[in-house]
Amino acid sequence: MKPSYDLIVIGSGPAGEKAALLAAFYGRSVALVEKESRLGGAGTNTGTLPSKTLKETALFLSGHNDRGLFGLERKLERTVCVQDLLFRKNTVTSGQSDDIRHFLDILKVDIFTGRGSFVDAHTVKVEAATTAPLLLKGEFVLIATGSYPYHLPGVPFDGKRVHDSDTILEIDHIPESIVIVGAGVIGCEYATVFNALGTKTTLINGHAEFLTFIDGEVLAILRREMESDGVKFLMPNRAEGVTVAQRNGKTVVTAHLSDDTEIEADMFLYAAGRAGGTAGLNLEAVGLQPNARQLLDVNEQYATAVPNIFAAGDVIGFPALASTSMDQGRVAVTHMFKLHALECVDQCFPMGVYTIPEVSGVGLTEEEAKKQKIRCLVGRFWYKNTPRGRIIGARFGLLKILADPDSLAVIGVHVIGRSATEIIHFGVLLVEEKIPVTRVASMVYNQPTLHELYKYAAFDILRQKQGIPPVNRPP
Ligand SMILES: Cc1cc2nc3c(=O)[nH]c(=O)nc-3n(C[C@H](O)[C@H](O)[C@H](O)COP(=O)(O)OP(=O)(O)OC[C@H]3O[C@@H](n4cnc5c(N)ncnc54)[C@H](O)[C@@H]3O)c2cc1C
Repeated sequence: MKPSYDLIVIGSGPAGEKAALLAAFYGRSVALVEKESRLGGAGTNTGTLPSKTLKETALFLSGHNDRGLFGLERKLERTVCVQDLLFRKNTVTSGQSDDIRHFLDILKVDIFTGRGSFVDAHTVKVEAATTAPLLLKGEFVLIATGSYPYHLPGVPFDGKRVHDSDTILEIDHIPESIVIVGAGVIGCEYATVFNALGTKTTLINGHAEFLTFIDGEVLAILRREMESDGVKFLMPNRAEGVTVAQRNGKTVVTAHLSDDTEIEADMFLYAAGRAGGTAGLNLEAVGLQPNARQLLDVNEQYATAVPNIFAAGDVIGFPALASTSMDQGRVAVTHMFKLHALECVDQCFPMGVYTIPEVSGVGLTEEEAKKQKIRCLVGRFWYKNTPRGRIIGARFGLLKILADPDSLAVIGVHVIGRSATEIIHFGVLLVEEKIPVTRVASMVYNQPTLHELYKYAAFDILRQKQGIPPVNRPP
């Protein structure tokens, strides 16, 4: 007899974990299939959590946030750094992975370790190295197999000197220099982490434009700060090949670039693109066909073309965030079992980039407003002009609000600076609820806090409405 479940989830990342928990919480029998021994997927083990932990550790070890605060520069201890760096990351990720297992156990989700693949639309085979294959029956199946780093042919990934975003988490030394290909979120985040650790960092991108979803003014500040911290931008340019050689007892990685130049470094990180994790699922058995990037199509309920098979998370593509993947998994389960739970993923979600400095935004950027011919007033306020900003020694942080010139409703909020990814959430509510800046200005905020930025950016708009030009003092 095959074990039979209401739901089989393949993959234990943010999408699969939250889907399994919700279904079990509502009394459904659930099997979770995960090929890795550690639960949590990229969200916990190779993506979101470890990269953010490395950022915090790099900030701590480098004293980056304290720069000039007490008139002192904290010195980086190179030799202890890599152990400290990885110890913290390992503690956080293993603790989180254990917690995921604990809560799945509490809700009696059966966890199967092995690679899942379809036999038919209601049968999943689980194959592991040391145990015999097992067949599971399910009324519904959720594919939550995530994504994996794309490997450019010709790049000799070895997990030692030539890395992707998975293996970069296992480095055995802090490199003297690093070349990072891909100025997307992952490439930019790691560029600022290594740069803060004292590594000579070069960032290469195929296009001159990068992080195009960020508001242009905010992006210009990010680039200026990254460059003044020492990150070298080489864009547009492409790495057409990479070689690793020994020279004078040292390992040297050489990237051969599209402009016929070469750049040498101690380490190389390729962070340009990810592909959907559909290989090996035997989708042919159920008649599903992924696209060229190995991604699956779903409807607004996250159902695939096969009615009892759903898909959520990175495996369906944009926006490919841990935050949205979790809710996609919950929405899929809500519709499978017709639950009173989460009907849809909120489309007004924030984007966060955990660079140094960090950036976050919600709603329209100035460029998008212009492109869509939407008129707006822009209010700005600088961290350093608030009491809290003074206390933390902020030099450049900015919060800007975009508002409709007639109704004064907030249509976009963009932040760069300390805790940007935290303070954006108030902005999400403002955009979502179309709250007018009159209300934002009239609210009482804790003093001193960075949230006061909202009040003064709102006043900046109200002054303009009065016909008075903005009086910001950009640094
Ligand atoms: C470096 C980096 C930084 C990131 N930073 C952020 C961030 O700051 N904020 C944010 O919101 N998002 C971030 N992300 C994105 C985020 O990690 C992903 O969007 C999220 O993990 C996707 O969740 P998922 O459940 O779809 O897939 P995953 O987390 O990839 O999990 C998929 C799971 O499925 C398993 N699996 C695959 N195939 C099979 C199979 N056949 N059988 C059994 N198991 C299988 C895998 O082993 C894996 O455990 C980052 C990603 C990276 C790489």
